[in-house]
Amino acid sequence: MRVVIAQMKHETNTYSPVPTPLSRFAIGGGIPVEGDAAYAAFKGTGSAIGAFIDLAEEAGAAIVIPIAAAAWPSGPVDDDAFEHIAGRICVAVADGCDAVLLDLHGAMVTQTYDDGEGELLRRLRAIDAAVPIGVALDMHTNFYPAIAEHATAIACYQTYPHIDMDGTGVRAGRAIFALLDGRARPAMAWGNRPMLPHVMRQGSDDSPNRELQARCREMEAQGALCASVFVGFPNADIVNAGLSAVVVADGDHALARRWCDGLLDMAWAAREKFVYAIEPLEKSMARARELSSALAPGSGPVVLLDHSDNCASGGTMDTMTVLGAILDAGLEGVAAFAIFDPAAVQQMIAAGVGEQVTLSLGGKLDMPSIGLKGQPRVVSGRVKLICDGRYRNRGPMARGEQNDMGPTAVLDTGKVEIVVISNHVEPHDMEAFVAVGIDPSTKRYVMLKSRVHWRAGLRALAGAVVECAGMGVCTSDYALLNFQRLRRPMYPLDMF
Ligand SMILES: [Zn+2]
Repeated sequence: MRVVIAQMKHETNTYSPVPTPLSRFAIGGGIPVEGDAAYAAFKGTGSAIGAFIDLAEEAGAAIVIPIAAAAWPSGPVDDDAFEHIAGRICVAVADGCDAVLLDLHGAMVTQTYDDGEGELLRRLRAIDAAVPIGVALDMHTNFYPAIAEHATAIACYQTYPHIDMDGTGVRAGRAIFALLDGRARPAMAWGNRPMLPHVMRQGSDDSPNRELQARCREMEAQGALCASVFVGFPNADIVNAGLSAVVVADGDHALARRWCDGLLDMAWAAREKFVYAIEPLEKSMARARELSSALAPGSGPVVLLDHSDNCASGGTMDTMTVLGAILDAGLEGVAAFAIFDPAAVQQMIAAGVGEQVTLSLGGKLDMPSIGLKGQPRVVSGRVKLICDGRYRNRGPMARGEQNDMGPTAVLDTGKVEIVVISNHVEPHDMEAFVAVGIDPSTKRYVMLKSRVHWRAGLRALAGAVVECAGMGVCTSDYALLNFQRLRRPMYPLDMF
């Protein structure tokens, strides 16, 4: 038995000015890993592709990995990059195989296609109309019908932060191997509702997504091969952004339809709970001070979330609003993770560890799609540390996967330690701090450019949390997004 296993993951923020060339899909630049190098990168990791490898090995299959390509979220994917990745997968399937297992995202927009995953699957079906195709998707999928039309079985993460990527691979993969063994006949139904859940309200530990995901697990316990609710990714101005669901039943399409509609009705009934109320930044900063002085010693820092500029939602990671407010407020004992500014890192490297520098920090990227100009801020401090920025995730999210912040430096203002990086990385793993020699548990405040994923590896250290609305293309204010192509009416942009 020959099984083609591949990864193509990108969440596209159509408002992001950060470009998405092929090199963004490869750790350290160049082209994404293939074959043995891809196997070595993902075997044993907490990823869907890692789970596919394990399942195929258990089945005694010959494994072909034409490519494993994942990039941090950013603007629309370059056509060249999509053609390279999709092309590799198509060639491997054209060589002949018994099954295809794909680790995809579900919210990929390319320069040409609003539905990158659907386009890949359409091409694969044109090559082989019958081969079973199992797909693992991110919970932030913006679902298009072509994905359901061409895939055989689909499973999505049931946790946000995404700590069940490997479990998702197992669910999608098992449905395919059961089909190959004659033990199951996947029958799939999908649907959506006109609602745009806010990312800050999507955490699977919070209601209503907690209950939606629990219902998915319940359906799987009752015999569904895979049950999935996608909360969707709202920072994408495409027709099908928003909430959707897919259920794969065993041989019973009507049951899949009923289950899927049940999930969608449940989500729609809870739509108001997915709406996020934005707190003005001045109020957040005042609250942070109060919380910090009320915390008992040793109870951990106040975590300040700069949620409008999260690189794992396509943020430039170089907006200075929240960090500027921290500096203006004179907060002490702060660690800030992180500002993307490769030029500032080079200035600090040129100065050397221990030297005083004055930098025009951040604000290098304009955001014309939401009418924002980059606003750097002059910051002085001592270069505390310089490192290569590489670390391997401790987990639980993306356990064992390699990260590369590029050349990295820490600027110490005396009150604030600012991590400055050259590649985008969202702080969700303790190893990100270990790599830069900071123990966040000893700080009074920790600023994170994150929305929900920080909870995966860092929640345990937080004494309190304050959500700080800054600026950026992950803006929490839907009005700034000025949707042109999204289907309407859409809750909560239009009231029902
Ligand atoms: Zn996601």
